[in-house]
Amino acid sequence: MLIEKLGQYFVSVEDLRRFGRIARPLLPVLVLGAAAAILLAERRAPLRRRTQREPARIVRNLVLGALSMAVVAAVESPAVRPLAQRAAARRRGLVQRLPGPAALRDAAAFLWMDYTIYLWHVLTHKVSALWRLHLMHHVDLDMDATTALRFHAADMLVSVPWRAAQVAVGGVSPRALRVWQAFFFASVLFHHSNLRLPPGWDRRLARVLTTPGMHGIHHSTVRDETDSNWSSGLSLWDRLHCTFRHGVDAGRVQVGVPAFRDPGEIRLRPSLLMPFLPQRDAWRPQRRP
Ligand SMILES: [Zn+2]
Repeated sequence: MLIEKLGQYFVSVEDLRRFGRIARPLLPVLVLGAAAAILLAERRAPLRRRTQREPARIVRNLVLGALSMAVVAAVESPAVRPLAQRAAARRRGLVQRLPGPAALRDAAAFLWMDYTIYLWHVLTHKVSALWRLHLMHHVDLDMDATTALRFHAADMLVSVPWRAAQVAVGGVSPRALRVWQAFFFASVLFHHSNLRLPPGWDRRLARVLTTPGMHGIHHSTVRDETDSNWSSGLSLWDRLHCTFRHGVDAGRVQVGVPAFRDPGEIRLRPSLLMPFLPQRDAWRPQRRP
């Protein structure tokens, strides 16, 4: 009797499964809806003052984003999806060794993906061969949700073996991968956005998630500030590694890289050529002629 009564109030595993089946086709719709909401909101309540003319910058970021997404669709997805299917079918990889229900292993896989993407982000800054590819993302002179798409296609390409290793070593199932990818995409749009949250909200949210205030500091022209806030989803990883930073006045943050302050150098063509040209010290300001 008591169990039946409790059952009326608690959700069963079968209920959760049913909800998952219904929500699955809605996931892309939810992510696109979140993207549209962020794009609208950052225009109504901007965090930093824009310095560049629009819409040229936005169009450029969208073109660069389309190229990098083409790489994801053509190379990353076909390489990674079968690895996830194999991990789940054969119970291979770290999280697949965990006892308990599949939902628990998927939750662990989510944390694994989020942590290892933190590590990858640190590597893209610290390894010079990777930094020359990641640099194009950081030279944007303003930052908003379109900066979240401004990745070099070659940056995406070299991240494929890392993504494959994340999935294969971690034993990430297709479901965990799908949920993490949707969360990651929404989070990347959100924390790159130029959205001023109500007072105190950014700080409160940053206890759990990567926020626009946090990631704005990572895109600062001050190197010491750029070398912080590497998280892309949960802010936990920055806290664990003591790389978390908050409280820098958003109005004071100058977005970009000191060696690339000339808007002519970050247009479409020079941006695409950037990794293949002789590299300059990104942190030393260039003398204007
Ligand atoms: Zn970065």
